[in-house]
Amino acid sequence: MPHPCLSCGACCASFRVDFSACETQERGGDVPDGLAVEVTDTLRRMRGTDHSPPRCAALTGRVGVQASCGIYEWRPSPCREFEPGSAACERARLRHGLGAYPDH
Ligand code: SF4
Ligand code: SF4
Repeated sequence: MPHPCLSCGACCASFRVDFSACETQERGGDVPDGLAVEVTDTLRRMRGTDHSPPRCAALTGRVGVQASCGIYEWRPSPCREFEPGSAACERARLRHGLGAYPDH
């Protein structure tokens, strides 16, 4: 069975994604500068994640159908640390009408 995240993407269209400015390419990290919005001198936010409704500018595809991160290898730490099946994951899925994280 394919990984449930491949037909989801709800977390990338539910929460603000903030991370250290050190993670941007501009400061020697991996996150492409064009996708990072400056919040303060030390804080960056994934573009689109504070829109209403939120949707990360790096997300491709359609939430709940087929979705993937366009910068998967270069995504910021909150995305790397986000746990499928966690309470936050379940909240995101619920928000998009996707039901509980499935066993797989
Ligand atoms: S909300 Fe959960 S299941 Fe959906 S993509 Fe994010 S981690 Fe995966
Ligand atoms: S950078 Fe990728 S994993 Fe992180 S919120 Fe955006 S689309 Fe999702």
